[in-house]
Amino acid sequence: MALLTQAPKGTQDVLPRDSYKWQYVEGLAMEIARLYGFQEMRVPTFEHTELFNRSVGDTTDVVQKEMYTFLDKGNRSITLRPEGTAGMARAAVQNGLLNEALPLKVSYLVSCFRYEKPQAGRLREFHQFGAEVYGSDSPACDAEVIAMVGEIFDTLGVRDLRLELNSIGCPECRARYHKALKEYFAAHMDELCDTCRERLEKNPMRILDCKSPVCHKIAKDAPKVLDYICEGCSAHFEGVKARLDALGMPYVVNPTIVRGLDYYTKTVFEFVTDQIGAQGTVCGGGRYDGLLAEIGGPKLPGIGFAMGIERLLKVMDACGAEFPEQPACAIYIGSIGEAASVKAFALVNELREEGFWAECDTMGRGVKAQMKYADKLGCRLSCILGDNELESGRANVKNMRTGETHEVAFDDLIDFVYDAQVAVLTESIRETEINP
Ligand code: ATP
Ligand code: MG
Repeated sequence: MALLTQAPKGTQDVLPRDSYKWQYVEGLAMEIARLYGFQEMRVPTFEHTELFNRSVGDTTDVVQKEMYTFLDKGNRSITLRPEGTAGMARAAVQNGLLNEALPLKVSYLVSCFRYEKPQAGRLREFHQFGAEVYGSDSPACDAEVIAMVGEIFDTLGVRDLRLELNSIGCPECRARYHKALKEYFAAHMDELCDTCRERLEKNPMRILDCKSPVCHKIAKDAPKVLDYICEGCSAHFEGVKARLDALGMPYVVNPTIVRGLDYYTKTVFEFVTDQIGAQGTVCGGGRYDGLLAEIGGPKLPGIGFAMGIERLLKVMDACGAEFPEQPACAIYIGSIGEAASVKAFALVNELREEGFWAECDTMGRGVKAQMKYADKLGCRLSCILGDNELESGRANVKNMRTGETHEVAFDDLIDFVYDAQVAVLTESIRETEINP
């Protein structure tokens, strides 16, 4: 029987001591996306299973092995989203957004669900920040999206990420390439895993993405897609590279990237790191010119990407990227006796209205235990109200870091807390100036 206090395998809690990191990363990604013209879209956590079968592709690992699919009480087949792109595309079509100004740019933060073997960097519920552009097939659009991802990583201080780039061509290139792959893999038929043997006829490119070591080894010497793409696709790829060159954005062309989802065409890319072990792909994306039509929408091109937040946070830790300081309580107002407790409550409320994190006792504790709590909380300032303080209207405010105390009138408390916060700020600025 499952332990009631044990979360399901492959899931993770984000604890209060870490959530500010998530808020920082997610907020910053969304904000940069806004500068690039993306607006947030929110879609349901589950969709009709058929949507993923059609878009992600029913010969992919994701659809064949990894989806959380169930029949609901109305006997509909429902799937928890394994990725964000399909739902975004569905919502754009359903709500007529593609009849409005193009290109349409949307961004999203979503949880995704894949029944995978849990390991470092591979969870069953994970989170993605992603973005999609609909309506443009220009290489400028590919470069813009890639540049935006680069800007997000730069701003977050992520170093040593490699941008790997490839083009997997249009359906016509694909047909030629599939033929070459079939010929190549047919000669290795007996060595391939069962799944790949099935894929050989329907979708031989999927073999390139197989995780079995034997298939992986055979795939190494398979024909390379870049040798099979048509002039148009080749020119498109050159256009993307020329724009990245113009930005001085380094990349490597990796002809083995095919991506694990079927909807991709032309440009595909990954941002990869060697710093967090085997699951080093932090962000993946590409163009999907056939997807909207495939799900019954207009014949419009699209491109998008998604980055895994868990992996992003891991690589930030690994490369020593800085996070803002964890928010701390500005002041704890302790009290002795009922009248002082009421006053503390009122003062704390005033401080909160001014935007400060302030605390007072809500446990009915004695003053010693109150101060112990203030200490544990890491409060910057504290004071204790008793009969004398109520009478004089003044309190001794202690700086919890330096031990310094100041007598402050209740009416001046907000200004004092404000100044103390500024002082802390200047101190850290001074520190960085002295020791850059
Ligand atoms: P991988 O090759 O690691 O299986 P993928 O190609 O399946 O990745 P995508 O579908 O492109 O991944 O998803 C985009 C990003 O989402 C990945 O680059 C990764 O950061 C993150 N991601 C994907 N699957 C997981 C997972 N099971 N756990 C944590 N993060 C994941
Ligand atoms: Mg995967």
